[in-house]
Amino acid sequence: MPLTDQIYCLHHLNGNIAQHLHPALGGDWQQFSSEFWEVYCAVSPHEFDAKWERLLQHFPTPSVVRYLKDKIYPCRDWWAWAWISTRFTAGICTTGWPEVENRITKFLSGPKKTFFQVFKVFVEHSEQQIENVFIDIVNVLRQYAGLFAFQKCWVKMDKSLLYEIDVLQRPPGAESFYMLNQFKNSSAYIPTSHLLHLCVARRLQVTHLLRIAHLSWAGSSHIPAVLSDGRVICDCCMNINLGIPCRHFFAAWLKFPGLGFHISIIRPR
Ligand SMILES: [Zn+2]
Repeated sequence: MPLTDQIYCLHHLNGNIAQHLHPALGGDWQQFSSEFWEVYCAVSPHEFDAKWERLLQHFPTPSVVRYLKDKIYPCRDWWAWAWISTRFTAGICTTGWPEVENRITKFLSGPKKTFFQVFKVFVEHSEQQIENVFIDIVNVLRQYAGLFAFQKCWVKMDKSLLYEIDVLQRPPGAESFYMLNQFKNSSAYIPTSHLLHLCVARRLQVTHLLRIAHLSWAGSSHIPAVLSDGRVICDCCMNINLGIPCRHFFAAWLKFPGLGFHISIIRPR
């Protein structure tokens, strides 16, 4: 409709860009993605343009530049924070939440929902959404957890819905994740290399590493380790330090089949 305000869902924007640019960028994809979300976070159109130019200079591959210039830049006011920040969106920056709910309830399926319809259902069902998506965990928490742990977990479950997850592959020839030392992560509390070192020292076997990245926060990604017994140790250290699972654990639990939840993850206090 001509007068309807249009806003791109960040989840789909990210997916489209990845689909078009990941093959061309290859090993530079992660770096590009991180810099792109920095551009997204620019606080004014002026800053956006400056950061955008830098992005194009850092990634000068002709097909990449062409796609960014022709497809992404012209609609920047539909997705970039410099423009979206001053429009009412009810805080929605992605349809990710309704889509998670879709998988469970089919409430919001179909592309023809208006913003008002999405907002209404979003508000009405946000409580039930956590309930539905994390039903197994919520049941255990209700039965065994104290109020503090329950509330803390609820908040983390809520926040976990806005993360994307990759399973990191071991390169050929590497016998264990411990042999890798390129994991640098400024937003984590401990470097992944140190986390792996601690696991090895305690004879814990890491079977998978997951990269869990927020859909919109530039540079905010964490790398939890999945152990052979199904436990998860996250480099944000909340599980260890506070004794309550972090949002990255819940994000992983949603997407990674086979992860268990046991009440012992919540330490008695
Ligand atoms: Zn974490």
